[in-house]
Amino acid sequence: MTQERILVIEDSFETQQLLAELVLQPNGYTHLMAMDGEEGLRMTLEESPDLIVLDMLLPKMNGLDVLKALKQQDVDIPVIFTTVRESVELVVQAFRLGASDYVIKPFDPQEMLEAIQRVLSASTSREERDQEVRQMADINQQLRRQLQELNILYTIGRSVASLRDLDPILNRVVEVAVYLAGAEEGLLLLLDESGSELYLRATKDVDQEAQTMRVPVEDTPAGRVIQTGRPVFLTGDRAKVVTGYLTKALLYVPLRAPDQGTIGVLGVINRESDRTFTERDIFLLSALADYAAVAIENARLFKAVKAEQRKLEAILQEAQVPIIVVDDNLRILLCNDTACRVLSFSHRDQWFQQTIGNVISNPTLLSLLVEASDTHRATWGEVPIEDGQTFNVRISPVSGVGYVLMMHDVTYLKELNRVKSEFITSISHDLRTPLTSIQGYIELLPRAGSLTAQQQEFILRARHSMESIAHLLNTLLDMDRLETSDDMEIEPCNLLKIITTSVEAYIPIAAEKHHELRWEPPDRLSVVPGNPYRLRQVIDHLLNNAIKFTPPEGWISVSARDDDGHVVVQVADNGIGIPTAAQPYIFDKFYRVESSETIGIPGSGLGLAIVKAILDKHKGRIWVESHPGMGSVFTFVLPAMKARSPEPQEQTLSPLSQPTGEDI
Ligand code: ADP
Repeated sequence: MTQERILVIEDSFETQQLLAELVLQPNGYTHLMAMDGEEGLRMTLEESPDLIVLDMLLPKMNGLDVLKALKQQDVDIPVIFTTVRESVELVVQAFRLGASDYVIKPFDPQEMLEAIQRVLSASTSREERDQEVRQMADINQQLRRQLQELNILYTIGRSVASLRDLDPILNRVVEVAVYLAGAEEGLLLLLDESGSELYLRATKDVDQEAQTMRVPVEDTPAGRVIQTGRPVFLTGDRAKVVTGYLTKALLYVPLRAPDQGTIGVLGVINRESDRTFTERDIFLLSALADYAAVAIENARLFKAVKAEQRKLEAILQEAQVPIIVVDDNLRILLCNDTACRVLSFSHRDQWFQQTIGNVISNPTLLSLLVEASDTHRATWGEVPIEDGQTFNVRISPVSGVGYVLMMHDVTYLKELNRVKSEFITSISHDLRTPLTSIQGYIELLPRAGSLTAQQQEFILRARHSMESIAHLLNTLLDMDRLETSDDMEIEPCNLLKIITTSVEAYIPIAAEKHHELRWEPPDRLSVVPGNPYRLRQVIDHLLNNAIKFTPPEGWISVSARDDDGHVVVQVADNGIGIPTAAQPYIFDKFYRVESSETIGIPGSGLGLAIVKAILDKHKGRIWVESHPGMGSVFTFVLPAMKARSPEPQEQTLSPLSQPTGEDI
């Protein structure tokens, strides 16, 4: 049975009767009756019927005016109007004013019933639709709020990452916590160093007097969060920050720092309103607390890194050697005081963030730097600067930074070296003259008269001694030349040929000691950039030593191969070997192993020093592996000639990069 209430606004009693008895009552509708427009409007407002049947011609206020009044007051009740004549103008006007249907008088009860049912069912489904729309609007609003919350959290997250200063971040976190939880106050407490009290680090709308309060860990809600690491949510008497700071509702969540546990508390408070907090507030506050913890941790790490950086800078600044640090783009990051003095920088602006090539013009230094950045390897070399000083510069790549240039002043050593060279040259020449005349007299002695066998023996010994003195002087001069002159001529060298010639020259010498001398040349060996005379000296010397320090009947073996852009040469023997303790020193000048096995073996102790000096000048390396009593293996490595470059302009950069010969 329907329960809808229908208001009939009709001045004709007969029509009212007709409607009530033939249409409304038999179909279960409750009806209300109004005799004129004014009464009808009043009853509509008071009774809120489900439908109005409205006559157009009424006393006091006609049907159109009633419709107008209903529209003005936003009354949304469906209206069926009745009229005696079908005037198009009237019908249009009535529909414009919100009427739902109309029936022409006199009407058939069935016709009226159908109109009532039609309008009511349309209005019911409209109500349902309205309800759905309202629900959608609610959901929409909820979603919008959640989106806004997420947006706020996201913004806070971004400021944590971008802001360096901790205060604004923590203040924002508390502010946002208060806003999102709809709270009156907010606070962020951090545990002090003693671990027994919390202090206020950031607040929002907390009383001025309370700003300095300290909250004990023992017996307080905040302390409970610290001890348990879990949120605390309180209402009623127990909801207080500290004794005397009472609240009606309080929500605290922990601030957890990685590796350090709970370091503080983020809280929101209601002191006046009875509004409590929800699960969602816990969720939002926990997210904010995580951000705050990350920001605090970042700030701590940033401070630590800054302190370390300052320490390092102070050490570098104080260093007596000039140090320059450049980034990967060769922009100067640091130039310590000593370097500024050397390079005549009077102000930081002259170098900071400047590309090194724009502020330093020294070509040797720049080419070392370019080489380091091209190869990503350490480079070093002697760099003379304008005022006459000379520096040994080492440039090392440092990953994540760029390059560090360390400069050692070797001006004094260079001067010493020059004096030493002068001394060696003059003493060698001075010695050579008397030596030549002694040698001449020795040669003349046999002509002075016949000599006894013993006298001849003495002359032979004197001649040998003279020869070793002359050899020593030559070696000394050679060593000096290597150390002082930079003008070694470099050309593409066929190392295979150089080794073969040297080995052939040593065959008779090895044969004297019944040594087996092995040399199995490889099918091909890369050409190396070098000085053929000096490289021959290296092989000669290694072979000479191998023969010298290998007892008769032993073997000496020479090998060579290509390896990853380098040529590797080995000279091995099964001779007396070198004691492990002596191995680090054998490339030093004048170093010789003194042992029962080396007694009587001639030598100056300069040979391997010369070998090393030659290989250094070729950017090569040499090392030894040796076991006393079993033999030694000397290995040296030289960079091979670079392959032909496809870029023509690169070829003009470095003469060494132009291949002038094919691999053998
Ligand atoms: P030297 O003129 O004495 O040969 P070097 O500088 O060539 O001087 O060698 C230094 C020392 O290294 C030698 O005196 C010797 O003790 C040791 N040494 C060099 N080569 C060998 C080798 N092949 N076997 C054993 N000892 C060696």
